[in-house]
Amino acid sequence: MTTDSRRRDEPSGRPARQAILRGVAGKARFFHALVTSKIMRRTPPLFLYWFVTNRCNFRCSYCYGSFHSDQSPDLPTEVMLQMIDEMSHAGVKRVNLLGGEPLMRTDLGVLVDRLVSRKISVCVLTNGSLLGQHFEEIEQVDEVGLSIDGCEEIHDAIRGRGAFRALTRAIASLREKRITVVLTYSMVVGNIQELDFVMEFARRQGVYVTVNVAHGRVFGTEDVPVTRASNDAYRAALQQIIKYHERGYPVFRARRTLELMLRWKDYHEDTSEIPPTRDYPRCSFGSYAATLTSDGTLIPCFLNSRGSAGLSVPEHGFSRAWQHCRQMAHCTYCHVPCFIEYNSILDLSLPVLLNAGMNLCVRPLFAKPRDLEAR
Ligand code: SF4
Ligand code: SF4
Repeated sequence: MTTDSRRRDEPSGRPARQAILRGVAGKARFFHALVTSKIMRRTPPLFLYWFVTNRCNFRCSYCYGSFHSDQSPDLPTEVMLQMIDEMSHAGVKRVNLLGGEPLMRTDLGVLVDRLVSRKISVCVLTNGSLLGQHFEEIEQVDEVGLSIDGCEEIHDAIRGRGAFRALTRAIASLREKRITVVLTYSMVVGNIQELDFVMEFARRQGVYVTVNVAHGRVFGTEDVPVTRASNDAYRAALQQIIKYHERGYPVFRARRTLELMLRWKDYHEDTSEIPPTRDYPRCSFGSYAATLTSDGTLIPCFLNSRGSAGLSVPEHGFSRAWQHCRQMAHCTYCHVPCFIEYNSILDLSLPVLLNAGMNLCVRPLFAKPRDLEAR
């Protein structure tokens, strides 16, 4: 692992700014590749969700997989590195690493180093519990997404004792390095009442917050019910979040995305073939974005790829797996905010692009370490 290019080793006073500039350059490369592809009518896989492991050290009640009991082995490091080289060649510009818990992989730093060296922008989605031991592994990433469920009592009840303290420690370490932090708050029956706490907490900590309406279980076979709240409760919460957005709280998603979420008819149905409104973004997964599962299979989307099987990248190579993925069936509309937002960006929606540009480029470049707190 090449630690000497990491943020902590750069000359005093410059590391954070250099890292932020590198992040901005990554977003510019993504945008340039997107616009060029649209003009040239090409469809490279610009963006990937990559499940780097199925293992997880938590057992959250509303988890979308049965990761805690998953014994499937991770792919070896050499195979992962080969896949990175191939995905870079195929045109991937942005990867969100997730799991399970990605930091369960002890080679995560090696993978991040290779991704960064291939000029691929990286975000890690983690429960934060292992960051203390493995902070060095992710120092080069552009953003970190951390889960939050509410105040310490609620968060620990869902995720396990000590989880909230680990979260606050993780936020402090990331803020010190000026890595952009986005808290992910998935609203379920047991924590939807925590919205005000989560918004205030994010404001005080100087980090962004994004909200999810819980979706169904997509990995694993265990029959654990997703404790979704009622449609009315979700609508009330989303209206409240839009008000927080107006008041300048650090809500990560564009107002446009929140409004589109609000127009969803039934939050107990994750997907639909009929758009709630004519201007709802159509799915770009399978044409500009995809999911790589922990065994190396490439499919359009982990939430709904209609049961059709993708090809294994280690077996068939990334380019062939992508050609196959483009032919695979999947749904066309969903209420998941990160998907709405990625689909809007891939559709060149101006309000969503501007919001992302402000949050990920402009604010990090000009913010003092505690600027968000002053909102
Ligand atoms: S931390 Fe994430 S992957 Fe692990 S059990 Fe909780 S929700 Fe599932
Ligand atoms: S609309 Fe697209 S992003 Fe949303 S669940 Fe379906 S396939 Fe996934």
